[in-house]
Amino acid sequence: MAQFIINKKQQASGDYEIHNRTTGCAHLPEQENQVNLGYYPGCKEAVEAAKSKWPGKVIIGCYYCANSCHES
Ligand SMILES: [Zn+2]
Repeated sequence: MAQFIINKKQQASGDYEIHNRTTGCAHLPEQENQVNLGYYPGCKEAVEAAKSKWPGKVIIGCYYCANSCHES
């Protein structure tokens, strides 16, 4: 299990990115823009949970720490 956070600041591309906080990421947003999502087995589950929490928003994995979920 790994802890995931979502960047509450929208990307220039219009989407919201989730990051893996357990493995760490060089591209984590500022602390104040991190919203804790909780622990998930992988980024796929974290993205699904975030999407059900914020329906209508485009949520994708970070290119660097959640690359397998990086699709819009
Ligand atoms: Zn990341």
